[in-house]
Amino acid sequence: MFQAKADVISKKEISPGVFSITLISPEISRNAKPGQFVHVLCGVQNDKFLLRRPFSIHRVVPGRAFEILFQVVGSGTKELSKVKIHDALDVIGPLGTSFTYSPDIKSALLLAGGLGVAPLLFLAEELTENHVMFYAMLGAQTKTKLLRYIDFKRLAKKTFAATEDGSFGHEGTVVALLNRTVHRLRPQVIYAVGPGKMLQKVAETADDFGIDCQVSIEAKMACGVGACLGCTCLTRQGFKLTCKDGPIFNARDIMWGESEVEQLSLDGYKYEAAEITDSD
Ligand SMILES: Cc1cc2nc3c(=O)[nH]c(=O)nc-3n(C[C@H](O)[C@H](O)[C@H](O)COP(=O)(O)OP(=O)(O)OC[C@H]3O[C@@H](n4cnc5c(N)ncnc54)[C@H](O)[C@@H]3O)c2cc1C
Repeated sequence: MFQAKADVISKKEISPGVFSITLISPEISRNAKPGQFVHVLCGVQNDKFLLRRPFSIHRVVPGRAFEILFQVVGSGTKELSKVKIHDALDVIGPLGTSFTYSPDIKSALLLAGGLGVAPLLFLAEELTENHVMFYAMLGAQTKTKLLRYIDFKRLAKKTFAATEDGSFGHEGTVVALLNRTVHRLRPQVIYAVGPGKMLQKVAETADDFGIDCQVSIEAKMACGVGACLGCTCLTRQGFKLTCKDGPIFNARDIMWGESEVEQLSLDGYKYEAAEITDSD
């Protein structure tokens, strides 16, 4: 884990409200693995936010730079969307666990809902480098929200798309598309990233077909390094910390039905944040 003042060398709005930023950090880019994240102080004025925001490592230029892909959803990401080339951001990383695969893996399926493409493109590039055949399945509400389709199409054996309004690819959710095609594709492992409800359904399908499944879990987090215990996730092995024991978990280990636990941890987080600052 490294802390860096990372210079912004590229910034693009790739879709309305969705930005990609590339930051220079030889240490983070050299050590990053797909699925890991960085914890970013959003904005160039370091006193603006007390709490860092977590973002998956989207891609790396080995030994030089890494990229994040994010959607503007609140004050932190809004501030982050305003950074300029040559600004320096305070970043800690790489953090958390990564996706894993055995050396003799024959086929995989990378499944993303919306911004879920963020960590999966890094994985797609690594699998390609290691000659692992994989399919990609991307879902979004509409065509304009379908991210990185061309990049996955370039790397995957076949890339499937699903949009809820039918404006591109299959009409409907990516889960429905998975359920229609999984018996044909029969991947050895599914790597899924997206909203919790989607992940739960993907995990159920994977289980029905006896396919291993790894998911990236999102939880509100404050410290990002396992110190504040604010991002608990209930697993079959007991409470785990999303930032340190995750964000990548075996889907079979997650106690999906226990939303009460998630709610408790979010409430605790908000209470703590309100006490620290009113511009968290
Ligand atoms: C491991 C991990 C990886 C992530 N990777 C990405 C990514 O690659 N791209 C992307 O767009 N988003 C990603 N997110 C979600 C991203 O961290 C939140 O969208 C962001 O923190 C929102 O900050 P905000 O200030 O704009 O929003 P606000 O809603 O104003 O945030 C308020 C507080 O809640 C926290 N928060 C809000 N939503 C989330 C969330 N979903 N997860 C965690 N903390 C949250 C923030 O840290 C902040 O302190 C990731 C989350 C996690 C846990």
